[in-house]
Amino acid sequence: MAGLYIHIPFCKKACHYCDFHFTQSVGQMDSMVNAICKELEIQADYLNGEAINTIYFGGGTPSLMNEDQLKRIMKQIQHTFSLASNPEITLEANPDDLDFDQLKSVYAAGINRLSMGIQSFHEPHLKWMNRQHTAQEAEMCFYNAREAGFENISVDLIYALPHHNHDIWERDLMKVIHMRPEHISSYCLTIEPKTAFGHLVSKGKMKDVEEEYAAQQFEILTETLDRYGFEQYEISNFAQPGYESQHNGNYWKQEKYLGIGPSAHSFNGHFKQANVSNNAKYIKGIAEGVIPFEKIILTKEDQINEYILTSLRTKWGCDTEWLQKKHKVDLLKMHEDYLMRIDYKGMIQVEEGCITLTNNGKLLADKIASDLFVYDEFS
Ligand code: SF4
Repeated sequence: MAGLYIHIPFCKKACHYCDFHFTQSVGQMDSMVNAICKELEIQADYLNGEAINTIYFGGGTPSLMNEDQLKRIMKQIQHTFSLASNPEITLEANPDDLDFDQLKSVYAAGINRLSMGIQSFHEPHLKWMNRQHTAQEAEMCFYNAREAGFENISVDLIYALPHHNHDIWERDLMKVIHMRPEHISSYCLTIEPKTAFGHLVSKGKMKDVEEEYAAQQFEILTETLDRYGFEQYEISNFAQPGYESQHNGNYWKQEKYLGIGPSAHSFNGHFKQANVSNNAKYIKGIAEGVIPFEKIILTKEDQINEYILTSLRTKWGCDTEWLQKKHKVDLLKMHEDYLMRIDYKGMIQVEEGCITLTNNGKLLADKIASDLFVYDEFS
């Protein structure tokens, strides 16, 4: 099975924390949709006929497409690729973009999962992040989406925001729990250098996120969602039973995926490629029949380390027997002493060849993963 990702690189407003590829020139949407349809055609053989089981419209803000633009892309996908039965088809949406009728037409176009960027229900936080919508619009969009037929909705929330106050975070969580989405993604605020927040931090006008405060908010997040029946199946992702994101699962399992649109990445099982992160260059290249991309060669170590990093974040953990079979590397033997030490400290569990992180270990997931990386083993 394979995944398909479509990048829609436009936003009405730039959120102060965001370093994704987008522009605010929404007027170019139609030319972009034409280019995306043409790239789909050019890439018809990329997945070698493998059936697609997940399609994900991300961005940017895919909910800025009108009905006709979305339908054109969906039609091109159906015309070009073989789809598995009942594929998961997700569209990222900002709450102020879609009214009830628009939500109905998005659903009718074949989208069966909505991922709503709500981030917070606290108005001062929304303003501070430069979000386009209000808390009330977010709630209204959620209930309209339900009414329009969506039975699988994911909500994004950000934690470790300023106003050091756990009550606000707990209220946000209770609000979302009350709404009962099927899935919640929650990320710690990170300050990226090329963002408005990054500039403020570098000039000393804003403090970076405090690790201890972030860890406390993460604990509140995991304990609260667990209490209300959301399973943490990946460090930042929580789902009601049966509603884990299949699209993300494809990435974590290192399945093939095709990324369409500027800045989108693809993986054909051997190497990755990244489309140019520039709308004008992308549209021009595609008009000339050439996809402007950069090839990313992955060494065996890169593939192993990427697997360790992503798998350790999931409830399924790092399957050392699979690594042994696929890449001929015995991780348990290679890091025997280190694994014993962190096992003793209650950071991991090793069962049937699988290394999983405990709640304590999750707080140090990236550090533990990098300690397990392999270097120069195959040179
Ligand atoms: S967070 Fe989403 S809506 Fe905000 S700028 Fe980034 S891509 Fe656009």
